[in-house]
Amino acid sequence: MPHSNPSLSISFPPFEPHRAKTVEPIHITTAGERRELLQSHGFNLFRISAEAVMIDLLTDSGTGAMSSAQWSAMLRGDESYAGSASFQRLVDALKRITGIANVLPTHQGRVAERLLVETIIGRPDAAQLRKGSNGGGGGLIVPNNAHFDTTRHMIEAGGAQAMNLLPRSGLDPANDGPFKGDMDVAALEKLLNTRGDDVPFVMLTVTCNSNGGQPVSLANMHAVRDLCDAFGKPLILDACRFAENAFFISQREAGQSSRSALAIAREMFDLSDGAAMSTRKDGLCNVGGLLLLRDENLHRKACRLCVLTQGFQMTYGSLPGRDLEAIAVGMQEALDETYLSQRAAMITHLGDSLQRGGVKTVRPVGGHAVFIDARDFCPHLSDSSDSASHALACAIYEDAGVRCTPIGSVLFDQRTGRAPDLVRLAIPRRTYSPSHLEYAAASIVELRHRASSIMPRPLPHDLDIDMTTTSAFEPAFR
Ligand SMILES: *Cc1c(COP(=O)(O)O)cnc(C)c1O
Repeated sequence: MPHSNPSLSISFPPFEPHRAKTVEPIHITTAGERRELLQSHGFNLFRISAEAVMIDLLTDSGTGAMSSAQWSAMLRGDESYAGSASFQRLVDALKRITGIANVLPTHQGRVAERLLVETIIGRPDAAQLRKGSNGGGGGLIVPNNAHFDTTRHMIEAGGAQAMNLLPRSGLDPANDGPFKGDMDVAALEKLLNTRGDDVPFVMLTVTCNSNGGQPVSLANMHAVRDLCDAFGKPLILDACRFAENAFFISQREAGQSSRSALAIAREMFDLSDGAAMSTRKDGLCNVGGLLLLRDENLHRKACRLCVLTQGFQMTYGSLPGRDLEAIAVGMQEALDETYLSQRAAMITHLGDSLQRGGVKTVRPVGGHAVFIDARDFCPHLSDSSDSASHALACAIYEDAGVRCTPIGSVLFDQRTGRAPDLVRLAIPRRTYSPSHLEYAAASIVELRHRASSIMPRPLPHDLDIDMTTTSAFEPAFR
């Protein structure tokens, strides 16, 4: 039954604020076919052909649909080596959104992270690596609310320590708090007081991917900024989901409801000295990343490092002009409140449908995904050495043709007791309709009634870090 949610401008069911111009058929498979595929691919969901997946919720990274405006902008992509008009259009768009004019495009977010770390901390040094210490960053600590795993690896490869400073409440999956991405400011202050000289810069990940896409409040960002000012530290955003974070602020933070997502995003960037981001998320593109550094000298240094392995910053970084055009348009479209509110409503609706059906999820649902507690779903597998999340993800695929990701128990640290073993349903942008997600929710709720029949599944022996989007899978597939 349609009902309206007072916090949202669109009533349920949340219909998409776009219509289809091109469609891609979904190949319908049977449970029997999918069972055979699972068996013949060693129960490794990453090996299954995407054509045998009916609804693919493996990741929200690079899997979204581009708009007609993005596709038409691509046609005017200027591929000149120097002086490209496409680069200038990207700079103009980013200046409006972020206020930062020093733009270095990269082919993914992790390249922006590598250049950030190499620019500020230095490159891993082969001699030091041989001696067992990793590199130039020995003894340094980079705090963050929670590092995404590529960021952590990049920092640790540079020899520094990547430190997460989420408070306990941010790590408790049952806590319904509005800003579970907020950094523990007291812990940051303590770190800066005791080890200040060892902190080259401070990071904030918006939204915080590692605890489930949870937002960071403006109040928290201001408090972190104040500490950075007091101790003379740059503040760098991991801004992959900056638009979703801005939307949550407009919905949840006192005094913010009448502001546009663009105005809030601008305030977030104004509080920072720069940002590294993937444009495969809120850039609404299938490729790309950005490194934005306010400081001219740091920007130049990053550009000099970029030219060695990526390309010429003064006007393309490491992307074709046509992709710069798509990013420029996508970054602006991502701040459209109608798009943002429909996306949030659709994901909340998915989480609510699962919870109403008795499926326990991480609360509140995040900006890009819903996380199911696999041990609660499959109590008979909760003590087995095999991972319940892996067995559940295989069962959901076999049963419904819906592919999701067994995340394992890496999202939450052990301070809160036994970490939940999670299955993630990540929602690609502008790709699936509410009815696709209703089908997914109904199938999973129905599967729950037969949960005791879910078989433990052998962990794939052939799944290594190179095949996954993130090393988050490692613990689940040990
Ligand atoms: C995806 C992601 C990255 C890395 O971006 P890629 O484009 O995949 O290299 C970094 N940080 C966060 C928070 C992410 O979600």
